[in-house]
Amino acid sequence: MSENMRVHQTQTTCWDHPKMAELYQSLADLNNVRFSAYRTAMKLRRLQKALCLDLLSMPMACEVFDQHGLKQNEQLLDISQLVTCLTSLYQRLEQSHSHLVSVPLCVDMCLNWLLNVYDTGRTGKIRTLSFKTGIISLCKAHLEDKYRFLFRQVASATGFCDQRRLGLLLHDSIQIPRQLGEVASFGGSNIEPSVRSCFQFANNKPELEAAMFLDWMRLEPQSMVWLPVLHRVAAAETAKHQAKCNICKECPIIGFRYRSLKHFNYDICQSCFFSGRVAKGHKMQYPMVEYCTPVCNSDVNLSHDDTHTRIEHYANRLAEMENRNGSYLNDSISPNESIDDEHMLIQHYCQSLNQGSPLSQPRSPAQILISMETEEKGELERVLNDLEQENRKLQAEYDRLKKAHDRKGLSPLPSPPEILPVSPQSARDAELIAEAKLLRQHKGRLEARMQILEDHNKQLESQLHRLRQLLEQTDSKVNGTALSSPSTSSQRSDSSLPLLRVAASQTTDTMGDDELSSPSQDTSGLEEVMEQLNNSFPHSQGGRRGHP
Ligand SMILES: [Zn+2]
Repeated sequence: MSENMRVHQTQTTCWDHPKMAELYQSLADLNNVRFSAYRTAMKLRRLQKALCLDLLSMPMACEVFDQHGLKQNEQLLDISQLVTCLTSLYQRLEQSHSHLVSVPLCVDMCLNWLLNVYDTGRTGKIRTLSFKTGIISLCKAHLEDKYRFLFRQVASATGFCDQRRLGLLLHDSIQIPRQLGEVASFGGSNIEPSVRSCFQFANNKPELEAAMFLDWMRLEPQSMVWLPVLHRVAAAETAKHQAKCNICKECPIIGFRYRSLKHFNYDICQSCFFSGRVAKGHKMQYPMVEYCTPVCNSDVNLSHDDTHTRIEHYANRLAEMENRNGSYLNDSISPNESIDDEHMLIQHYCQSLNQGSPLSQPRSPAQILISMETEEKGELERVLNDLEQENRKLQAEYDRLKKAHDRKGLSPLPSPPEILPVSPQSARDAELIAEAKLLRQHKGRLEARMQILEDHNKQLESQLHRLRQLLEQTDSKVNGTALSSPSTSSQRSDSSLPLLRVAASQTTDTMGDDELSSPSQDTSGLEEVMEQLNNSFPHSQGGRRGHP
């Protein structure tokens, strides 16, 4: 007689097989996984392996169900029936995996688990549907095959399912994460909102056919998202990525790989990501993309490689921009700073589990990628606007300084770079809308334009730099320390650079070696320099006092 039978016949409650207690204890170390769907899925994965259900194919499970005449899903199975079924199930598994499967231990542990999940009242009985739902959810099969199987269990002979029957199925399914203490993340024990959302998705028809149920399940509704995530976790287990974790330095990365969309070459491994570790200097506000494996990718209808390449190229491009422009790109991304944690962002992308309708919920990798691309596009446009503004600012400053320079009668300056034609906003908007469908091309264009603006800004900056040097030299010259001709001072501009820095540091604390990289700070700094110059040497202001 198994331990479970003895325990249940003597009315003992909440007893766990020692090996089961050990397993449950070991699951505690997964509690540091910050995201509920992953946390639950990883616990289930460990459980699935401990129960050897990861070896069980669906046809084999169905054969055993048939062999024991498990047709009436409402029918209750007592402990001895459960033990009989489980024994023949594990005996079959033992035939193909003798070194992995110990029949008595597996039977005991699986029974222990099933009772914990489905017999909370410790009646010693569970419904046939519950038994099948538990076994099939954790067996080795394609995700959609599991969905189809589960739907068939509650559908009528004609293949339709009403709200009550769907409720039954979802109820039995949600008991699995509930038993791990994770039910709150999946909408709680109340499955009614989930049933309602499914039928709303089916246009409120009184009954649901399998195809509609499958479509709904593909949206990974909140109550069921742990199951597809379990499949992704399993698929990612053996994935090896030729990348190095920026935090723990693991290389290659095994398992899920997370890549920053904004930071060049910023990858982190699954365990660092799940535990929320951050590399020094990395701001946790950027989205990341999750890479699992080709197995996982085949679940979605999207040329994944292509999309990944695009996103990677794109992320690299943005990272370069960012390096060149200091922090300003940063600021342009979320001005209101509602997202202060990239994990929040990921959670939003992947598993926004605590929101309203399941339709707006946990999304497939394909959906995530598409939404990321859309957001990326929006960001690029914002960056572009910033660059254009910066460009206008620099141009204005150039003009101002040029005037000051001319007033001082210094040597002629090289003309500024050609001013970029800024097309009317509305025209470009129309253009953008027209090209919205050609996202890829559009991005290419935005990038090209960004490059032009960057180059132009760089030119302006270097011209400004020169202007300042010249003005500085005028300063020294007027002080009587340098009486060289304007043309000479122009030639000697290099040697006057330290002077400029001294002057700058006297007028503003914020300016330093990197002063040119931060246009907005630069502007105010320059204005102060100009003002000081003008105050010290009023002659330069429109020649009111004439030349000395
Ligand atoms: Zn790591």
